[in-house]
Amino acid sequence: MTEPQPFGTLADGSPVTKYTIAADGGAELRVLDLGATVQSLRGFELGAEGGRGPNVVLGFPDANEYLARPCGYHGAIVGRYANRIADGRFALDGVDHVVAPNEGPHCLHGGPGGFHSRLWEVTSLQDSSLTFELVSPDGDQGFPGRLTTSVTYTVTPDGVGIEISAHADASTVVNLTNHSYFNLAGEGAGSVDGHFLSVEADSYLPVDSDLIPLGELAGVPGTPFDLTRPTLIGRAVRDPHEQVTLAHGIDHCFVLREQGMRRAARLLHPESGRLLEVFTDQPALQVYTGNFLDGSRVGTSGRNYRQGDGVALETQGFPDAPNRPSFPTSVLRPGSTYNSYTSWRLDLLGSRH
Ligand code: BGC
Repeated sequence: MTEPQPFGTLADGSPVTKYTIAADGGAELRVLDLGATVQSLRGFELGAEGGRGPNVVLGFPDANEYLARPCGYHGAIVGRYANRIADGRFALDGVDHVVAPNEGPHCLHGGPGGFHSRLWEVTSLQDSSLTFELVSPDGDQGFPGRLTTSVTYTVTPDGVGIEISAHADASTVVNLTNHSYFNLAGEGAGSVDGHFLSVEADSYLPVDSDLIPLGELAGVPGTPFDLTRPTLIGRAVRDPHEQVTLAHGIDHCFVLREQGMRRAARLLHPESGRLLEVFTDQPALQVYTGNFLDGSRVGTSGRNYRQGDGVALETQGFPDAPNRPSFPTSVLRPGSTYNSYTSWRLDLLGSRH
């Protein structure tokens, strides 16, 4: 087993630790206790010079970089409520709740002190798996109920599994996801315009100019959101469709077909043949083409991240569901457990490693 490594110290003196888990003949994942963050993922070219091929997720070389602004939530577990809650408020069982705004009046990814910024406790560490736990007190960022969340990363010969569960002592709302940005040419290699993306969705949620869902589902046929066949990301994000221009690219919730564990998306880097397949049991996938990466942040290998240098494929429930009775519920009741399972399958086209 690789020994945990120090990964810098936060402003309040707390040390941050980096953990490495790996599967024999499989991927290697480096994860931080800060935000339960995926800092690095290698595993496409097993046996390649240098180990497992390039690191394919965006990240930073030091803990404080993860908290610097603009915050891109790189690789973190975001919560308590991934995505947006409009106007930072919702009603639950007739009681109004106000949650901390961090994007104008809206609450994005759990608010300014969201789960990405917390030090998670390691409750289990093995060669190929790691479990973190975070206890969020009642009223944290304005959310009701004490919420206990655990995240297990498991590395297998095929890829990575991410299992998230949570329970609360009072009724609350929950939406949790991993916010990794992928670049299958390698982190820092430039734009993902030349990657092909397909998403198993026939509809998506149009948004307003604050990226809050309008409420209706829209069909993808005839729009740049039709990713039912492999589509060049560069082509989709340059489409003049109004929904693309107001989001500066794609930053939308895709409503996944079917239920239960199924494939949600495929991302292919044609030059290398690296293929990432995302499987999930969640109802939706937020596809975010790194529209607000502005070149001001320098990543792991010393290159800065500009618009479109990575794509996040965030498996989750619907945005703003606490305010939208027609969306699948995000309510978690005491005595019940929130569960989410996502896996990333890594493959090299034409060859099975
Ligand atoms: C959201 C984007 C947001 C980004 C922040 C994504 O999940 O959809 O709108 O800017 O997170 O990194």
